[in-house]
Amino acid sequence: MAKCCCICGRKLGIFGEERYKLAEEYIACYSCAQIFRKLKEFDDKKIIDKYEKELLGRLDENNASQEVRNLVENEIENIKRVKYEAEKKKELEKQRKEQSIRKRNEFMVTTGYNFEGYTIKKYLNLVHGENVLGTGMFSEASASIADIFGTSSEEFGKKISKAKEDAQEKMIINALMLGANAIIGIDFDITTFSNNIIGVSTNGTAVIIDTNVCPNCGKKVLENESFCTSCGTKIEKETK
Ligand SMILES: [Zn+2]
Ligand SMILES: [Zn+2]
Repeated sequence: MAKCCCICGRKLGIFGEERYKLAEEYIACYSCAQIFRKLKEFDDKKIIDKYEKELLGRLDENNASQEVRNLVENEIENIKRVKYEAEKKKELEKQRKEQSIRKRNEFMVTTGYNFEGYTIKKYLNLVHGENVLGTGMFSEASASIADIFGTSSEEFGKKISKAKEDAQEKMIINALMLGANAIIGIDFDITTFSNNIIGVSTNGTAVIIDTNVCPNCGKKVLENESFCTSCGTKIEKETK
């Protein structure tokens, strides 16, 4: 059983305080253990450098053996590597999140069957989204939809609009998961399940669209352009 801190040489306390085990018989004292804890805790490079220097300085003061130095240096490297990997993972997650936000922002929807200036490259699948307006929205006294329309049609309209938006958002998420970047032929259905429960559902076809390009030079062709602005090729309009 080691009685002294392998790093600074101080006597190890006997009251079960925090310690840091580097290896069998190589135990760091409370004070050195705290430095390891801080190394793990902080991400700031300056702070990490400071604590690293502090530990190496204690090794020098204590004339620690090469074996202990190696153990301490390895331990610090491990702590740094774990930190670096966590940071990398965080950065990747951030990128993924930004990418999905961008994809969502660029997502296009239409009740029609095409987008001007775009060509549908692929039809993927039917997608849908549902939403239910619960009983909580109107008092139980409301006898029927007719009453609701009669008494607070404006509020009702707002709730329905919001419910449609939410249903559409769910549908868009389903489409994004299929790899779509647009939905065509969007249609809404509103169903009354009971006096106070209204279901809103929406469906459409998930597609992949791309901007039209000149068949001759491949340059992007904007809406309403009849000739390629780059090479002058006549652009055939999509016929549906
Ligand atoms: Zn120590
Ligand atoms: Zn062209």
